[in-house]
Formats: sequence, C-alpha cells, structure tokens
Amino acid sequence: MTRSTSAQRPPSDHGSISAGHNQPRAKSRWPWQRSLQYRIAATYGALFFVVLLFLAIWIGGVIYRSYLEARQQDLVLTAFLAANALEDPLSGYGDEFAAYERSESEDEKDKEADTDKAQNKSSDDESEDGEEDGEDGDPQKAESVAPVATAQPTPAAELPRLQQVAQTYAGDADARVTILDHQGDPIADSQYNTGRIDNQQGQPEVQAALAGDQASSIRKDPLTGERTLFAAAPIQQGAKLLGVVQISQPVNEAMEGVRQIFLSLAAALLSALILAGVVGVWMGRRLVRPLREMETAAMAVAEGDLNQQVVARTDDELGALARAFNYMVNEVRSHIERQQLFISNASHELRTPLTNIKLRSEALRTQLDENPALAARYADEIDSEADRLIRLANDLLDLSRLEADGSRPPARPIDMAALLHEAGDVMQLRAQRVGVTLEVSASPDLPPALGSRDQVEAAIINLMDNAIKYTPPGGRVWLEAEARNGRLEVRVSDTGMGIPADELPYIFDRFYRVDKVRSRQENGVGSGAGIGLSIAKQLVEQNGGQIWAESIPQQGTTFVISFRTA
Ligand code: ADP
Repeated sequence: MTRSTSAQRPPSDHGSISAGHNQPRAKSRWPWQRSLQYRIAATYGALFFVVLLFLAIWIGGVIYRSYLEARQQDLVLTAFLAANALEDPLSGYGDEFAAYERSESEDEKDKEADTDKAQNKSSDDESEDGEEDGEDGDPQKAESVAPVATAQPTPAAELPRLQQVAQTYAGDADARVTILDHQGDPIADSQYNTGRIDNQQGQPEVQAALAGDQASSIRKDPLTGERTLFAAAPIQQGAKLLGVVQISQPVNEAMEGVRQIFLSLAAALLSALILAGVVGVWMGRRLVRPLREMETAAMAVAEGDLNQQVVARTDDELGALARAFNYMVNEVRSHIERQQLFISNASHELRTPLTNIKLRSEALRTQLDENPALAARYADEIDSEADRLIRLANDLLDLSRLEADGSRPPARPIDMAALLHEAGDVMQLRAQRVGVTLEVSASPDLPPALGSRDQVEAAIINLMDNAIKYTPPGGRVWLEAEARNGRLEVRVSDTGMGIPADELPYIFDRFYRVDKVRSRQENGVGSGAGIGLSIAKQLVEQNGGQIWAESIPQQGTTFVISFRTA
C-alpha cells in the first residue's frame, strides 16, 4: 500500500534543474566527494596505476636480477678464458706465466727478491702509463734489476706480456682485468698500477679461485668506492695453481643496459597511467550519464510532471534502476489517478444520499399537513439514506484504519471448516430471503490457516454478501476450502451475473462498481458503494493472504482467498 510521503526536494549538486538551486548544497569538502564520475575515474586510474606499478616493480626486479646474473656469468667466463689462455702452453702465454711463477718462487728464496719486486712494480707502473713503450722499456729494466736472470725468463720480463693479456681481455669484456699470483698479489692490471692494489687473497671470489673454483661476488671496490661486480678464475697447470685472473666492473656500468630498459618501462607506465585516466574519465561519464538523466527526470516528477520516463540503455544495475524509476513514476501516476478517482467517487457517493435527504426533507415540510402518508414515506426514505450514509462513512473509516495500520495482527491458527460453517449460518437467512441456496463444504481435516480469526471471517462474509447480492433468485452460492501447495484456499462461488474480463482487474479498487446502478437496484443490501472488496482485500493481505477472482459473465464468479497454514 502506498503512503503519503513528504515531498521535500533533495539537494542538487549539478544544477541541472534550476529549481534545485533553492536547496542547500551538500557539505562535501573535496570535488571527488561530490562527483561520482570523478570518484570512478580516480578509483579506476589509481587501481590501474597500482597494478601497473606492482607489475613494473616485479618485472623490473626480475630483469635487474637476471641481467646482473648474466653479467656475472659473463665476467666469470671472461676470467675463465683469460686464465685458460695463461695456463695453456699453446696460447703463447702459458709458458710465460709458468716461467714467471717459477722465477717468482726462486726470487722469493733470494734475499734480493724484495728489491726485484719493487723494480717490477715500478716497471709495471711505466707500462701502465705508456702501453706501447712498455715492451721496449721493460726488458731493459728487467735486465738491470734481475741479477738472477739467466736463460730463464724473469718475472720482470714477463710482466708486459701479462699486462697485454690483461688489456686484451679487459677490452673484450669491457671490464677491468687483474692478474694475481698464487698468493693473491697483483701482477698485472688493465687499469691501475699494481702498487695501488692490495693483496686480494681475502676477497671471496679470489679465495674460491685459489681453491680451484670460478666464482663471483658483488661488493664495494676499495679503489673506487663503488659497488662492483667481481669474478675470478684460477690459472692452473695440472694440479698446480699458478695464479688467479680477477675481473671486475662497477655495477652501475654493468647495468647501463638495464637503465635503458627501466627508462622505457617508466615511460610505458606513465603512458598507461594517462590512458587509464582518460579511460577512467570516459567510463565515469558513461556510468554517470544515466544517473544525471534520472536526477533531471526525478526533479521534473517532483515538479508535478508525471509523464517523465528515462531510457534504460543497458541490462545492468543502471538499466534496472532506470526501469525501476519508470515503473515508480507510472505507479505514482496511477496511484494519484486512483486517489483522484477515489475523491470524486467518494464525493459523489456522499452527495447522492445527501441530495436525496435534502429533497425529501424539503418535500416533507410541504407534505406534512397535506399528505401525512407521503410525508411518512419521505421520512422513511430519509432514514434509509441516512443509514446508507452511516454505512458508507463506517466503511470508509474501516478502510482508512486498515490502510493506516499496516501492521499484521497476531497470527493464530484458524479452524477454517468451523469458520466457514459459522459464516454459512450467519448468512443463511439472507440467502433464503432472496431465494438463493447457500452451501458450505469443508473437511474438518484441513490444516489450520494462520491469521486473525475475526478479520478472516469479516473478509469471507464480505465475499458471501456480494455473492448473494449479485446472484439472481434461484441461484446458488457455495463455500469450499482445500489445502493446496502448502496453503489453504477458500473459494466463494456463485451462479450469478459474473464480471466481464476487462473489469476484473479493477473490482478491488475503492468505489469501483461493475455496473454503476445495478447493485443498488437489485436488493439494496450492503453499502453498494464499491468499497466492500477493497476492505476484503485489505483484510486478507494484512493477514498474509492473497485474494483474486475468476469469473464467467452470466455463469458465475469465484473469489479465492489463499492463507498461510500453521
Ligand atoms: P459493492 O458494495 O458495490 O458490492 P464491492 O467492492 O463489494 O462493492 O464490489 C465491487 C463490484 O464488483 C461490485 O459493484 C460488483 O459490480 C462486482 N462484484 C463483486 N462481487 C461480485 C459477484 N459475486 N458477482 C458479480 N459481481 C460482483
């Protein structure tokens, strides 16, 4: 049942309806609190961005790690190749390194070994300053500082060659190559003077290489202070460890390629973000458009235009909302139309007896002396019209009371067979008086219906009253009850005049009468104002029941009430 609601206009934020400006604006502080479109766009953009950022960080991490790993492996391989070249006699360097190692170990035994080493280092320095000159310069120096040198190659004499190896492999790998002796002391370096380089024995990759393995590590280079990739491989001849090739590259340099990838990744992320923003705004606008249309239509309805309809473009919730809105407007319109009809019907129903009373009372005044018999008839008619008015007023009061009190009365189990027989007894006399047969058939085994007994009885008597009223003499009215689909159905049937199919949907409306004159002409029983069925329907629904009618004109009508069962 519809109730009257307050018609206050909601505040409008979009100003799409000029009348909306009178309303206080929403107190939201930020623009996104006032715009669903903005919120959708922002949420969508933020979500998209977070997902992309997460993916970028994850992919970036994977790229970074695999690149670093690959670079480490590269360096290990280069160290291995350089070490191979140095240990393989066929490479042309192997003998030299072995010779160097031999002379080194002999020198170590010699007391002048320190001096020789110092000389070697100084010659090393020179070779670093001028690589081209190295070969010319060093042998002279080697001669001057190698008193033990005989037919064997001296360490000093081999240094330029080692230096060359270091340079060659450094160039190949784009990294720094250091050649260490078997104690971890630097002998040649592609970039620095060996004097500046500490003993490397303690470094993890060198330790591993001295133990015969290839290894790599990432640590800070004490010479540059930078995070650096190190790799080392042992130089071996047979089981003998001759030395170690150490190779290094600052991580920053090694990861130069990755930086490019990261820059492209960031650019892609930014473009995706912009795209997400644009798509978000577009989507927000698309989503919000039907809502704006509905707002405009709702404001127009509030202004009194009940022909407003919005277009339901989609099958989703917004489409459903648009359809619900259209349905609501149609329902409100028909409700208002019914209300208007009700008022006009009610005034008509009130005016007719009042006019009759007025006419009769005027006539009564003149006829009182002249024709007392006629005067007495007028008085009776006034009395009967007054009764009709009282009944009408009572019915209207009942109806409005029922409608106002939407609450269900406490539901108790009702013995329907007993109730129907009782109702039959009450109505029997009236039926007999108008020549109608009244029968009741209800099994005592019926499940009890749930509801308020008084209200259910009132509804059934109302239907019986109609059945008797609209059935010509000689006709039949009968009551039945049966359990069906977990409910209890009560049927009030008659062999009366029936109701045309096109009128059936309206018979429960207030003041609706199929034939506007016949009911009063027939026998004058009941209100005859078209309110009885509205009251019956209200009573039934208030008790959780349903009511409907089936009818064949000129054959009869059946009213069915279905109740919940206990
Ligand atoms: P009324 O007081 O006029 O009977 P109701 O609301 O009870 O008002 O019924 C509404 C209209 O439905 C009646 O005017 C009548 O035309 C029709 N109607 C109701 N019951 C029957 C029936 N059993 N047979 C034929 N018509 C009926």
